[in-house]
Amino acid sequence: MNLKSLIRDIPDFPKPGILFRDITTLLCDPQGLRYTIDILAEKCGNLEMQVDCVVGMESRGFIFGAPLAYRLGSGFVPVRKKGKLPAAVHRIDYQLEYGTDSLEVHQDALTPGSRVLIVDDLIATGGTASATAKLLEKIGCELVGFGFIVELKDLQGRKHLPDVPIISLVEY
Ligand code: IMP
Repeated sequence: MNLKSLIRDIPDFPKPGILFRDITTLLCDPQGLRYTIDILAEKCGNLEMQVDCVVGMESRGFIFGAPLAYRLGSGFVPVRKKGKLPAAVHRIDYQLEYGTDSLEVHQDALTPGSRVLIVDDLIATGGTASATAKLLEKIGCELVGFGFIVELKDLQGRKHLPDVPIISLVEY
């Protein structure tokens, strides 16, 4: 199946000069959605280490992470923007193009030694995925790999990620 044909390009979103890869058109295609999860589960299921937990980043990482976790028979843990999670959190601050941002995860969601797979819809500069990896490493988790639907190759985001398997289904 040609997943790229189900992803819509939106020029000048969220600001002029940015070509936004919109996965909502893939999500509302029944065959496309099923195929995406099936192929992601197949590739992630073939990684060397077993996955205890899929970690998905707010917000589109939740959409793919939860069904992937279901398919892998693992748990799912959300990583959210600052102030959204109700219980005690671990936090990491990271650099954006302009300013900084923070990501948080519940303190009791993961334990040292948990084998985690990080999932998001898309990797661009790698800033979000790299910050998430650092947050999980701080907790003492063992990183099994990364799974993305889309990879923007030119931005070389994977260069900023730790040396573990990185799966992406569609490249631009
Ligand atoms: P990065 O931190 O620069 O790698 O950007 C990745 C994050 O920004 C992910 O959480 C994506 O959901 C979001 N993102 C950046 N560009 C796009 C895009 O073109 N389409 C959809 N999401 C994007």
